Parts: sequence; C-alpha cells; structure tokens
Amino acid sequence: MFDMPDFDDHEEVVCVSCPRSGLRAVIAVHSTVLGPGLGGVRCWPYDNGMAAIKDALRLSRGMTYKNALAGLDLGGGKSVILGDPKTARSPEALQAFARAIDRLDGRYIGAEDVGMTVADIDLMRDVTPYVAGTSWGASASGDPSPYTAEGVFLGLKASVEAAKGSDDLTGTRVGVMGLGSVGWKLAEMLYGAGAELLVADINVPRTVRAASEFGAQIVDPTRLPFEEMDVFAPCALGGVLTRDFAESAPVTIICGAANNQLATPDVDAALWEAGKLYAPDYLVNAGGVINVAAEASGTYDAYAVGMKVREIGTTTARVLAQAKADDRPTGAVADALALARIADAGDEGARARG
Ligand code: NAD
Repeated sequence: MFDMPDFDDHEEVVCVSCPRSGLRAVIAVHSTVLGPGLGGVRCWPYDNGMAAIKDALRLSRGMTYKNALAGLDLGGGKSVILGDPKTARSPEALQAFARAIDRLDGRYIGAEDVGMTVADIDLMRDVTPYVAGTSWGASASGDPSPYTAEGVFLGLKASVEAAKGSDDLTGTRVGVMGLGSVGWKLAEMLYGAGAELLVADINVPRTVRAASEFGAQIVDPTRLPFEEMDVFAPCALGGVLTRDFAESAPVTIICGAANNQLATPDVDAALWEAGKLYAPDYLVNAGGVINVAAEASGTYDAYAVGMKVREIGTTTARVLAQAKADDRPTGAVADALALARIADAGDEGARARG
C-alpha cells in the first residue's frame, strides 16, 4: 500500500474482515490534523481488494481537502464496503462494520455515501456514536441535498460575478446535467433567480417535469456539455470535464454538485488555459458535509449550518479572484488554500504540544 500512487501519508488504514457476516471493508483516515476524519461509507462491487483500498485512499484524501476548505474542524476519512449493495449490507455486516468504526475511537466518523441508505446509518448508530446523517434523535441532520444545492447555487453566483462583474442571473443560460436530489433543487433556485435552463437526465420524466415547471429546454445528456450556454452545472456523475470538453465546449463557467468532475487531474490546467472558469466541485458541493458535520458535533444548529453554507459563496469568490491574480488553475488554488489551513493547524498543534 505504501507504494501505491494514491497513498499520501494517510495516518491510518484499516482492513476489516468478518467471515461470519461476509463483511469486507476498508477504513482510511487521511488526516486528523483539523479534527476527526469525517467522510462517507461507500458500498461498491470492487473488482478486487486493491481496487477498494485505492478508492478509500483517494476518497479519504479528497475529504481532507473538502472539509478544510469548508472551514470545518474536521479531517478527512472515508470507508468502503466491498460487495454488491443489494447483498453486502445485511444487518450483521453493518453491525460488524459499525464495531470496526467504533474501535477507532472517533478518529473516523462515517456517513451515507453511494450504495448506502440513511436506514443503514441508523442501524450502525445503534452500535457506535461515530456515524452521522441519521434520521432520528435530537441532533439528526436529515437530507443533506438542500444544503448541497444551496452551496452550489451560491458558488455559481460567485462564479458568474467573477466572470461577468455581476451575480444577476436574469437571462443567464445554465445547463443542469442530472435532475436528482441536488440538481432538481438547484434548477428550482436558478429558475427563481431568472436563469434560462437547459436540462439533461437519463430519467426522461424528470426532464419533462422541468420543462413544464421551469420552462427548461430538454437536451440529450451527451450533447449538453457542448451546448451554447453561460454555465454548465454537472449534477450527475463525475468525469464529465475532459480535455475535449476543455478545448471545444463553448461554455465559460462550470459549477455543479457532481463529485470528481475532472476526468483527469490535468484537465484543471486545460480548463484554465482555455479561458474557462471552473468552480472546484469539492469546494461548492460542501453544503451536505457541513450539514452532516453539525450532527457529528453533537448539537445540530440549523442557523450555524446556514451561515457556514453561505461561506461557500465567499470562499468561491476568493479562490476565483486568487486564480485570476496568480494566473493559476482554480483547482490548484483551492488545493493550496486547503493545504495552508491544514499546515497552520498542524503548526498550532505542534506548538500546543510544545
Ligand atoms: P441523485 O442520484 O439523486 O441524482 C443523480 C441524477 O443524475 C439522477 O436524476 C440520474 O437519473 C441522473 N443521471 C445519472 N446518470 C446520468 C447521465 N449519464 N446523464 C444525465 N443524468 C444522469 O444524486 P444527488 O444526490 O442529486 O447527487 C448528484 C451528484 O452530486 C453526485 O455526483 C453526488 O456524488 C454529488 N453530491 C451530492 C451531495 C448530496 O448532498 N446529495 C453532496 C455532495 C456531492
């Protein structure tokens, strides 16, 4: 593992095996410099164990950056359960997994991610306090997607302002790819702000509903990224921003909720060189983790969550302005900002320890 390209001096990586329940899982804690490593539990049918370790390493590192940029006192962690979500999530397996999380004594806090449900997190909460995103209890945070959508909306307004000098969205053409929990709410807010919508989803009835409720133009998902529009908002799958997109799409602003939008890391520079303003996904889609983090803190405060989500707009403006001042890709600037916060906290921690 130490020789894998995705290994980035992760503090701790735990492989979990429970033959009785069939559980196989990996918990990766990338950094606890800012606080416990918080990040989702993913259940996925990986080809093999090494693929699962690689994903846990990559995703936990991403959470360190996301949580740092969101201004949370949390580090980065992520866990993966190996197997088909239809069969690998038996109550016995989830309980065994929750016990493994519990043994880390709070250095990792899990939450819902791909292949998992809120009911799974509820079940694990009976075994360990170190999961968040439950549906019940005094500090339950509930559905994170409205917070994610709001953060993306604010990041999008900041991006439009950076590009055009005003954040007035009236008549701004925005292409929303994916009308799921986040994409739909984002489309709703954009419509309310006077934007003209283009929408794409493999779920056709959703697009038909968007056409009727928001007057949206329906576009084929493969064509949407290349349409004439002001903003492209990827809210479905990752990997949509390719070199081809950077070089040939007419759109100049990209801001959406989907995780890991860059098909390869070099696309960050390619977008910048092509004159495209890309609001880094892990910066603008942090509303959900901000909401879950409030639950993890033990006292859910809706007002404080709202204030923190609003900071996403300010941080986006800061990153885009810095990128312009330094003539540097936006993803590189966001990474540097996150690393600076971690380095400061690390220095303070070292000073406090004497
Ligand atoms: P979702 O599953 O509710 O919605 C995804 C939508 O995308 C669905 O309507 C689906 O039909 C559509 N879709 C799938 N493949 C498509 C394709 N090839 N072309 C067009 N549409 C396609 O998911 P969500 O919760 O809305 O999350 C959307 C994205 O945002 C994901 O990448 C997710 O990881 C990311 N994200 C979500 C949250 C959150 O709070 N839910 C937080 C951070 C990041």
